[in-house]
Amino acid sequence: MTEQTTPQPRANVGKIPAYVPGKPPVPRAGLTTYKLSSNENPYPPLSGVVEAAMGVVGQMNRYPDMGCTDLYAALAEHFDVPVEDLSAATGSVALIYQILQAFCDPGDEVVYAWRSFEAYPIAVTAAAATSVQVPVTATGEHDLDAMAEAITDRTKVVIVCTPNNPTGPAVTQTALLGFLAKVPSHVLVILDEAYVEFVRMDDAVDGLAVYREHANVVVTRTFSKAYGLANFRVGYAVARAPLAGALRAVSLPFGVSGVAQAAAIASLQAEEHLLARVESLVAERKRVVDGVRAAGWDIPDAQGNFIWFALGDRTADFAAAADEVGIVVRPFAGEGARVSIGEPEANDRLIDLAGSFRR
Ligand SMILES: *Cc1c(COP(=O)(O)O)cnc(C)c1O
Repeated sequence: MTEQTTPQPRANVGKIPAYVPGKPPVPRAGLTTYKLSSNENPYPPLSGVVEAAMGVVGQMNRYPDMGCTDLYAALAEHFDVPVEDLSAATGSVALIYQILQAFCDPGDEVVYAWRSFEAYPIAVTAAAATSVQVPVTATGEHDLDAMAEAITDRTKVVIVCTPNNPTGPAVTQTALLGFLAKVPSHVLVILDEAYVEFVRMDDAVDGLAVYREHANVVVTRTFSKAYGLANFRVGYAVARAPLAGALRAVSLPFGVSGVAQAAAIASLQAEEHLLARVESLVAERKRVVDGVRAAGWDIPDAQGNFIWFALGDRTADFAAAADEVGIVVRPFAGEGARVSIGEPEANDRLIDLAGSFRR
């Protein structure tokens, strides 16, 4: 018999790094355990959101509105942008995939900071593009000068993650505008603002103002973090119509489910409730950052709903010690651990752990 050949994926597929999801908590007798490993919102859904989603559950035999008409209308009104400048998808991760799919040919370069969001190298490799990773500074910040210098004739896309997951700092508007002035106009810049609602700093980035001034910028945002809809998978991009249109063109038909669309619209309407919640998470973040620093740790500025411990080869020990006290953190082997701001009790345990862990 002749030897059988099997279908082979493209060569890049075998090189796609695995996504390491945050572990669920390990149950411990007599101890409530908390998941601080995925930057989730610890609060239950915003008011009116469950009801809005439930209102659509009975129509699960029907496809959702493929055009996301009501969601686009709600986003357009909320942010005062034209509907043509919006693109919704199953989480902002999907939008990043779509941008790379729509704009990169095999071998094109994508410049981004590293360490940053772990989905970037996965998405870039899946698109058969080439990652150009520019190390973050010692304080976990984007090195925008080095990123500008890393742009070559092959560069198609640059990603700016602000605040940066997992290290925490955000770029300033002044620094961003200075950077954009150096980026050629044919290079697309993704401004990944997954944590924008949590930013509290001087000279904060105004992503929508940046999109209005720059025809090569795509702002991506999500309902997963501040809005607490991680399970429903809905994010959106804001960009000039030709870019947003390209993203819509490559989107998965009927990707955003009806329950997700309804929940996202209701979430936008619950803005007051949302802001109160975000405010309390920001207050908890300050309490945790202050507590951890008071325990002697030198941690970077935290502008998202998480903090970063640069632990190097003590990372696994720290993650194990956290498990022992019933909090699950997200270790990055040999580099550090990212810990989400969670319930006050979980945050208390983290502060205690920071005090007792022998570095
Ligand atoms: C969580 C996150 C996202 C968005 O995730 P989705 O759930 O897919 O919307 C995007 N970028 C960064 C940096 C994130 O941390």
